[in-house]
Amino acid sequence: MAIVIIRQDGKTDMWKEALLAADPNLPVFGYHDDHDPKGIKMALVWKHPKGSLANYSNLMCIASNGAGVDFIFEDEDRPKHLPITRIVDTYLAADMSEHVLALILANLKHLEHYKVDQFNKIWKPLQYLRIADVRVGILGLGTLGQVLANDLVRFGFQVQGWSSSRKSVEKVKSFAGPDELSDFLASTKILVCLLPLTDRTSDILNKELFEQLPKGAYIINVARGGHLVDKDLLELLDSGHLSGAALDVFHQEPLNQEHPFWEHPKVHMTPHYASVSDTDSVVPQILENYRRLENGDSLINLVSKTKGY
Ligand code: NDP
Repeated sequence: MAIVIIRQDGKTDMWKEALLAADPNLPVFGYHDDHDPKGIKMALVWKHPKGSLANYSNLMCIASNGAGVDFIFEDEDRPKHLPITRIVDTYLAADMSEHVLALILANLKHLEHYKVDQFNKIWKPLQYLRIADVRVGILGLGTLGQVLANDLVRFGFQVQGWSSSRKSVEKVKSFAGPDELSDFLASTKILVCLLPLTDRTSDILNKELFEQLPKGAYIINVARGGHLVDKDLLELLDSGHLSGAALDVFHQEPLNQEHPFWEHPKVHMTPHYASVSDTDSVVPQILENYRRLENGDSLINLVSKTKGY
């Protein structure tokens, strides 16, 4: 019974070493290592080559090496009967919250704008907003969204969230389901997307949604590039309806050099680094599920295959 790590971002050895540091006897292989596919019971994957999971006839579990699982559902050749697990981790949630807080504070204090003014030697103070006057709306009030919501409340923001089911988070107004999306949007000044990418949320950040936000709203997408219709965002930024956007995730990563986002003055880009799985904190939960597989116990952090997240 062994684990195979399948990813294409050059981090296979890092994860293998981290797993072996926790358990030196663990049978763990990189996808390109010499190994017997029949002995593999768990595949630890991150954006694996589509079809690669089909090589493992005795696989018992597909474990995402991150919080998102969209890339697994996109692999039509995956063994569909297998359980899928994902990472649920306090560091992942705290890092995401810090990233979004930094973006929101920078936006309130116009830090991006002043950087450009500085390069152009322009001295022009702008009016700023106070935290207490700003309502942040979080699309996806799940594991990451709720940690962010609590942090924003602690900072003094007005906070509301939208999810499939109603949530009870102190001082956070909960909106649930498609029927309540319009009311949620109408009162959101800064919109943060923390939804999983599924058939129902793909392209959700589109013109129709943006037009329901108040004029001057600011968009933060830290979920997946597939949530955003790029041309709709550009149109609404250029018309002045939206004041700006901070994007961490893109349809194609790295973003192609010709894409208009690179040079758009109202777009703030980061290279999909808002929150990255930390080996020290994530390895124990991978090993926990490996042991559970060995013992025939039910797995932790299971993904719903009907919901797709
Ligand atoms: P969770 O599954 O814990 O939360 C997802 C939330 O979205 C839930 O509240 C869920 O509602 C809600 N939701 C899902 N579908 C819909 C829908 N159709 N309508 C309304 N609400 C919906 O996910 P996490 O918080 O752990 O992660 C969210 C995403 O963040 C990940 O899928 C990943 O794409 C992204 N991510 C990005 C990172 C980065 O570095 N940029 C790092 C880590 C994650 P309900 O609870 O009612 O089901």
